[in-house]
Amino acid sequence: MPVALLPPITSSGLQRWGTPQKRTPITEAERYARCRGMSRWHRIRSGYQREDGSRTFNLWCGTFVSDGNVKAGPPLLADEIGTDDVCAVCVGKALGAGQDEIPAGMPKLRFDPRWLSPPSVCPGSGDSGLWVDVPNSRNVVRCLACGDLVSGRASGGAYNPRWGAVRHAPGVGLVEPCPFHAWQHLRRGEGEQVVCGCEVQR
Ligand SMILES: [Zn+2]
Ligand SMILES: [Zn+2]
Ligand SMILES: [Zn+2]
Repeated sequence: MPVALLPPITSSGLQRWGTPQKRTPITEAERYARCRGMSRWHRIRSGYQREDGSRTFNLWCGTFVSDGNVKAGPPLLADEIGTDDVCAVCVGKALGAGQDEIPAGMPKLRFDPRWLSPPSVCPGSGDSGLWVDVPNSRNVVRCLACGDLVSGRASGGAYNPRWGAVRHAPGVGLVEPCPFHAWQHLRRGEGEQVVCGCEVQR
C-alpha cells in the first residue's frame, strides 16, 4: 500500500540567476526505502523525478537515496520488510508528522547514538604512542587501542621523523569508550593500558 509523500520543497532563499531544473514531484511511494550500502531501512519524506526519469527520495532522517548515485546504487523500495532494522529517527518523524496511520505492530527500530559508533580510523593510528613494537619483526607493531598487529610507518617530515602505526580500521578488540569523551582522548596509561585522558592523574 503506497504512502502519501510530502511536497519536495528544498530551496533555501531566493535565487535570481540560473535556470531551475525541471522536476516532477513523486506524490506516493512504498513505505520504506534504502540503498545497497545502508544497514537499515528508512522512511521517505518526499521525492521527485528528473526529466531523464531518475528519481531521488529524501528520507526523514536527512539522508537520501537516488538513481543518480551510481556508487550506492538505485533506491530499493518496499512495503514489507519482515524483521529488518528500520531507522528510528525516520519512523518517529514520519509518524509524528502524521504521514500515515500508526501501525498495529512496530518494525524493529534502530538508532545508534553517535558517540557509540566506533571511529573509522583506529585512535591507535599514526604517532599516537598507543602501540608497541613486536619483538623480532621488522616493522610490525601491536596497536594497544585495538590489539591488532599492523605495519609500522614513518610519519612526519625529514627533520622530524616519527614512527607510528599505519592508519587502520579499529580491530575487534577496540578499548571501551570513555562515557564522556568516547575514543577521542586516549592516552597510554600504566604499562600497556590505554585510558581516556580524563582518567590520567595530573
Ligand atoms: Zn532514516
Ligand atoms: Zn588499532
Ligand atoms: Zn574521558
